[in-house]
Amino acid sequence: QAQRFRALLDLCKRRGFLFQSAEIHGGLRGAYDYGPLGVELKKNIAQSWWRRNVYFRDNVVGIDTSIVTPHNVLKASGHVDEFTDALVDCLLTKERFRPDKAPPINFKQDKGQSSGKISIHSPDKETAKLWEQKIQNELAPGAVVTRQGKEVLLHVKEMTTTTYGKQSGSIVLETTSGSNLTIPYHGYAEPATNSPFLTDERPFNLMFKTFLDPIDPIDRVIKTTIENNTSDARTIRDQVDNVLRPSTVYLRPETAQGVFINFNQVMRTMKTKLPFGIAQMGKSFRNEIRLEHAIFRTPEFEQLELEYFTAPWESSAWFQYWQKDRLAWWLEHANNKGDIRTRNHEADEMAHYAKGCMDVEYKFPWGWGEVEGVANRGNYDLTQHMKATGENFEVLEDKPDVSSHLKETALVTSVPQEPTRFVPTVIESSCGLNRALLAFLCDAFQQVQEPGKESRTVLKLHPRFAPVKCAIMPLTGNAEFQPYVEKVARSLRRQGLYTVIEAQKLRIGKRYYRHDEIGTPFCITVDHQTLEDQTVTIRDRDTAEQHRIPITDVSSIINEKIWG
Ligand code: ATP
Repeated sequence: QAQRFRALLDLCKRRGFLFQSAEIHGGLRGAYDYGPLGVELKKNIAQSWWRRNVYFRDNVVGIDTSIVTPHNVLKASGHVDEFTDALVDCLLTKERFRPDKAPPINFKQDKGQSSGKISIHSPDKETAKLWEQKIQNELAPGAVVTRQGKEVLLHVKEMTTTTYGKQSGSIVLETTSGSNLTIPYHGYAEPATNSPFLTDERPFNLMFKTFLDPIDPIDRVIKTTIENNTSDARTIRDQVDNVLRPSTVYLRPETAQGVFINFNQVMRTMKTKLPFGIAQMGKSFRNEIRLEHAIFRTPEFEQLELEYFTAPWESSAWFQYWQKDRLAWWLEHANNKGDIRTRNHEADEMAHYAKGCMDVEYKFPWGWGEVEGVANRGNYDLTQHMKATGENFEVLEDKPDVSSHLKETALVTSVPQEPTRFVPTVIESSCGLNRALLAFLCDAFQQVQEPGKESRTVLKLHPRFAPVKCAIMPLTGNAEFQPYVEKVARSLRRQGLYTVIEAQKLRIGKRYYRHDEIGTPFCITVDHQTLEDQTVTIRDRDTAEQHRIPITDVSSIINEKIWG
């Protein structure tokens, strides 16, 4: 699986889907640029989402709100105080983890002894190799380190707690030269517990903070500290916070808050009535503790979010509707339906205000990972912004009723009999665009081995997602083919379909394979027969079958195949 994933990333780089950002300057961890094909794929996924959620409905509208968000908005929403992840430091390797992501490190004692082995368990052999190197090169050069599959073992001669209550001590390791190597450690709780080297958890705010201020905040901080002549860290922090607060802004950590604060503006301008939705796609930013698996977890990412506002008595029914509908979108576009599943959150996993939460998960090469969350957020967000601003987000229903869509649904709860005023409930679906792109790439990536031929790659992307929809190929360099090639290309381009002309002097079969590799679903060939009867061949990527069709039918046939 790891090797297959590497081959996929290699393809992404080689064929222009994904580049390491700022590579010529040494790159930046977690930052990626989308190349010419990546940008098409990303746009196509987003477009399919927008079509399904906005254009195909009467009651969903779009919005595009500012990324730079004032402190007050995110204070009211709870993000300033609560948008935190727990962080632990590994005292052995100096790396930082979310506790649930930390590799289990065990001290296995020999019976009744303080000697034994420290074992570090990694998710795969590659990671284990990295740990082995890190320990040998940085942490404990000379120590005896062995590796068994995914486990790295350090041989401990003795482990002592000098100050037991204060959780510190030293480990005496066996070395390759036979001498001893003593390394200090901290954070030791009890011998033989699971993680003797991971510090206590501490909260870590995930938002990127910055300042709208023509004066460099560092200069303000220096000035304040000098003027106040304070040496106590806590006091300095409070003073600095006060000085910087008026210019503090954040890069939004989700697109949703921009929707909530515009609730009244949208209702007013679009004359929307419950239930209705506001869709937004755009960038969000999180200062993640650990960046992982290429674009799976990055500091800068894109979200496709839909906030659907409902009357409270309909909220459970709409929550169920959106769980089904979002799963249906994922399944419709994936080849391997078994690699997509849903998972309901346990009560202790959810935000305190949430009434229910379901994740859509994809089976990535390293295991199941969240790609989308669907949540019943109650009316918490709107209420918080009302409290902070005095703006009234209540809706009046003169004759409370049940949406026609839900008449048969048992989940609708008691409908009030008289006019009712309330703050709407929000059902949210929040899909990570970059994670969707990665999941659909993993799903599509197939290495084909035909007898007697070199192995090759076919990217079986859904035709809607494929970056290039159609490649048009003159069979040879014969100049008479050219007007037909251009005619077909024009008819497709007018329909908004990304079409390329593939006129290189390569065998036609080679040209087909090059397009299979980037997922182009259809190749059109102009040949001698075209000159006689105005027909071309259309080749299907997945079946490799070819049919002759009239030139005038090309764009309608391809449109039909893509959109169904
Ligand atoms: P995780 O548990 O993986 O950190 P989350 O539960 O914090 O995700 P949400 O807040 O529900 O994520 O965000 C909605 C979606 O946004 C996620 O399902 C995911 O697809 C995407 N997403 C969140 N954080 C990132 C990130 N750092 N990089 C890429 N996509 C992300």
